[in-house]
Order: sequence, then structure tokens, then C-alpha cells
Amino acid sequence: MIEFGYARAGSAGDAIGLAGRHAGAKFLGGGTNLVDLMRETIEAPEFLVDVTALSQRIEAREDGGLVIGAAARNTAVAENRAVRERFPVLSRAILAGASGQIRNMASVGGNIMQRTRCLYFYDDAARCNKRCPGSGCDAIDGFNRMHAILGASPSCVATHPSDMCVALAALDAVLVLEGPQGTRRLPMLDFHRLPGGRPDIETALAPGELITAVELPPLSFGTHSAYRKVRDRSSYAFALVSVAAALDVAEGQVRDVRLALGGVAHKPWRALKAEAALRGRPATAESFRAAAEAELADAAPLSQNGFKPELARRTIVAVLEDLA
Ligand code: SF4
Repeated sequence: MIEFGYARAGSAGDAIGLAGRHAGAKFLGGGTNLVDLMRETIEAPEFLVDVTALSQRIEAREDGGLVIGAAARNTAVAENRAVRERFPVLSRAILAGASGQIRNMASVGGNIMQRTRCLYFYDDAARCNKRCPGSGCDAIDGFNRMHAILGASPSCVATHPSDMCVALAALDAVLVLEGPQGTRRLPMLDFHRLPGGRPDIETALAPGELITAVELPPLSFGTHSAYRKVRDRSSYAFALVSVAAALDVAEGQVRDVRLALGGVAHKPWRALKAEAALRGRPATAESFRAAAEAELADAAPLSQNGFKPELARRTIVAVLEDLA
């Protein structure tokens, strides 16, 4: 048995103080990923700081935005009326993830911090640069059907597993981070990293920092948004490809659009090339296909996931056609 310490924090300051006083500490939310990693001995924190008592508040701002406490449960966010009315893509993305029981436990902060589900990462007999830097990557020539086609590196081809984060990336979410140096705000798009030569470094979090809230800025056409997840079975499966989109069409032209992809990269993939290709264009299947082609032009599939680029293109087109 591996022993570890445990304390429940009453506030963000309390949590940061506890983590600072215990070497090898980790923050514990709903535990739906970290506890699995500890059981598999992939993670072995010496001390757990339970942050489930921190803010679970979901505040609808008068300007049309939202602030979500990082300890809010995934189910509470998906069911929240303001979330469903202002940003249905976020509610849909959360409901596409995991099972009802897991969504009841999982927190927003923990969902953002969850780690890849690459099989080799969980197998300590396998070579994995993320788990053991410098050891190699068994996925590159192994079972890589679920793996990345965009932004990968020779060190790691893993994907980020979250659905919720794909919607947050599309919605220009901003993370509120608190740590020993104070509070800062970081765009969601800058939080998760591409693997490069250090796939073990997954986020821009500084030592001792904690996600305390997620801010969603107002988006007038956020009401007109959707999430589609393509997977091997209809529930409790990770995405082969997913698409989060919000679309603003006026007189047959795309006035504005937000688009992000899941299941294709080491981080939620904001489809900025496709967005640029769509603004001012007719809201037609031809425009949507051209935008999808632009976004996937640099796709580099592996030995077992050559289907993913076309699956991503078709899913983008289907979601945008529905919204248009
Ligand atoms: Fe490890 Fe990344 Fe390779 Fe998977 S893809 S084995 S997580 S280095």
C-alpha cells in the first residue's frame, strides 16, 4: 500500500497554503481521474488537498457571460438553466462525456486537469515519454487508432480526453488561477500545451497554482451552438472526433463562427483556420467543406487512424449545416 496524507481545504487560500506546506501535494477534485491514476500507481502524490469545498457557484452575469466555480460538478453545469440557454454547446459537450455517475462526481477544475487515456500511459510496462520522460513512445508504432492527427510530435501522439474542454475552447473561456504569487487569468487556449519534446508538461500551471473558476465571456450567438461527438459506441466512450461550434448567419452569409475539435490533438483544438475561411462566406455546404479542408490540411495520421481527417471534415460540415 502506498501511504499519503490528506486534508480538506475550506478556501482557495487554504488549499494553496496546504499544498505549499506538503512536498509532492496534489489537488483532489471529484477524483474521477486522479484516483484511477493512483490505483494504477501512475501517480503517487504524497499528500492530497481536497478542493471539493471550494466554490461550486454558477453565476449568470448581466452582460451575458457566466462564471463557474471550479468545484462545480459537471452535472450541475450541464443542467444549469443559464448554461443551457446561453451556451448549449457546453451543456451538450458535458452530457456527451463519461457516465451519469462520473458526471455527478467530476468537477469542472478536475475535468480540465484530466490526463490522456492513451493505453500505454496507463501501462507501466510500456515506453511512454509522458509517464517516464525520455523512455520513448510505444503508441507511435502501436495501437494508435484513438491518437492525434494535429499538433503531435515524435515524442507523443496522445489526445486530450475531455469533451467539456472542447466547448470551453470554442467559447473563448478564461481560467482564473490562484497560486502563491496571487491571481491571474489565462485564456483556455493557452492553458493546455502541445507535446513538443516535453509531453510530461501538459499545462501552463505554475507550481502550486489551482484553477478556481472558469469565465465565459458573452457571445451573442452562443445560443446558436452545438456539440457532436463521434465515438465507437453511443455512451461512455472517448471521442474519435468531436466538434463544438457556434454559428452566426445573416442573409445567408456567415457573420461569425467559433469552432473547436476534440479527439484530434494533445489539447482541445481551436479551428482558427476554418473560422477565418468561413467569415463572410455563404453559409453553404461548399463553404463548410472548404473551411474543413483548410483546417485539416496539416493533418498527419498514424498507421491506424487514417480515417480521422475525413471524419473530422465530415463532422465539421454536418454540425455547421445543422446550425445553418
Ligand atoms: Fe505516452 Fe504520449 Fe506515447 Fe501515449 S502517445 S505512449 S501518452 S508518449
